[in-house]
Amino acid sequence: MAQAFFGGVHPHDMKAATNEKAIEQLAPPAEVVISMSQHIGAPCKPLVAVGDHVDVGQRIGEPGGFVSAPIHASVSGTVKAVEPRPSSMGGNMLSVVIENDFQNTLSSEVKAPENPDAMTPDEMVEAVKNAGIVGMGGATFPTHVKISSAIGKVDTVIINGAECEPYITSDHRTMLERPEQIIGGATYLAKIFSLDKVIIGVEVNKQNGIDMLNKVIAEKHAPVVVEPLRCRYPQGAEKQLCQAITGRQVPPGGLPAAIGCAVFNINTTCAIFRAITQGMPVVNKIVTVSGSGVVEPKNIECPVGTPVSCLFDACGGLDEKTYKLVMGGPMMGMAQYTAEVPVGKGTGAMLAFCADEEKTVENPQCIRCGKCVEACPMHLEPLFMFQYASKGMLDELEAANIMDCMECGACAYVCPARVHLTHMFKTGKQKINDKKKREKAAAEAAQKAEDAKKEAEKK
Ligand code: SF4
Ligand code: SF4
Repeated sequence: MAQAFFGGVHPHDMKAATNEKAIEQLAPPAEVVISMSQHIGAPCKPLVAVGDHVDVGQRIGEPGGFVSAPIHASVSGTVKAVEPRPSSMGGNMLSVVIENDFQNTLSSEVKAPENPDAMTPDEMVEAVKNAGIVGMGGATFPTHVKISSAIGKVDTVIINGAECEPYITSDHRTMLERPEQIIGGATYLAKIFSLDKVIIGVEVNKQNGIDMLNKVIAEKHAPVVVEPLRCRYPQGAEKQLCQAITGRQVPPGGLPAAIGCAVFNINTTCAIFRAITQGMPVVNKIVTVSGSGVVEPKNIECPVGTPVSCLFDACGGLDEKTYKLVMGGPMMGMAQYTAEVPVGKGTGAMLAFCADEEKTVENPQCIRCGKCVEACPMHLEPLFMFQYASKGMLDELEAANIMDCMECGACAYVCPARVHLTHMFKTGKQKINDKKKREKAAAEAAQKAEDAKKEAEKK
């Protein structure tokens, strides 16, 4: 059994509603809305125009920079619009809207390599890049960038099967239904990083998933081991998973690569397998649809760009008392104002909650119990950070290391006064980033003026 990490909480996992249900395929939606920003980094530039015909797997979004990932059509049909549409990240994002022709025609751009096992690490990374793979556990960082920047620097590759967020079971079902893809993808990662083994970390509330992975590892003699993990939230956070498995701690402000680790999600690993063996880009996503507001919770595989309203329809609709929609888990997910937002590459769950679960407190007051400090896995002091954030004391907030806050919600979960801690930290981080941008722009403008003045004096 793996080691522990500091802090954390033990929320009820609420997984029973879906963890024994096989992944269902969604009936093809009439229309998909494919956002050109489904990853951390520069948004894509659309490669198609209204009226164009597209096929499944055809590249429709060109990466907008080095940290970016291409985007592909998830259905075949006709481009109906290229315009801003509601995004799960808030606001509107430039999107390609495709009217489905229900032919499911595969693009000629999708080509399986002749011999995947003969590919060099560089060729495999190129296949990952062309497939538009990003962190599919929700982080959405482009996977080829993560691999390229970590090759030669890491001695431990970890596949993240913790799935510690309540309700979500899509990784668990993938372990049970597609273990060959996980072990195959992990084997390719071992080859890319020149390692003799890759570790899959799985919480022990998925024992049948652990057994299934071990069975396939034994059958294939794969260079992969499964590390069972005690259940604790947020074990699935990269830094905490690295600590639980290796005992090494990522330094403040650092990344797992700083301690020789690289972490990949279970479904990202499957996507790597499909990219290398079939040349298949990311066009589908498995989403857990659950929560008290969902009539019949399920795990559903659907084309990227499917409006979440179609997922709820496939689950018997929403309870009339539903008051809140959350994309992602209940601890880190984002509340949605409409069910018309589309599924993205990083969407792991869509939850709906009924009014009788509303626990918000008006004007909550901190009672200085210190529980939030005990719960914070990043060794932060949420109660003081909250005071600084609510008073706009941005320098003090930054000095309190708020930028290390990973917005896991553990502090808010344990707070008996129901202080809006995580929300305040999200906006606090945004304000600090905005302030830095303003200061940088002001410094650049001052430098420009100074240069112009010197130039004028020379004449
Ligand atoms: S847990 Fe809540 S009430 Fe207790 S110290 Fe932290 S913010 Fe204050
Ligand atoms: S949300 Fe931030 S401050 Fe709160 S427990 Fe998580 S890392 Fe710590």
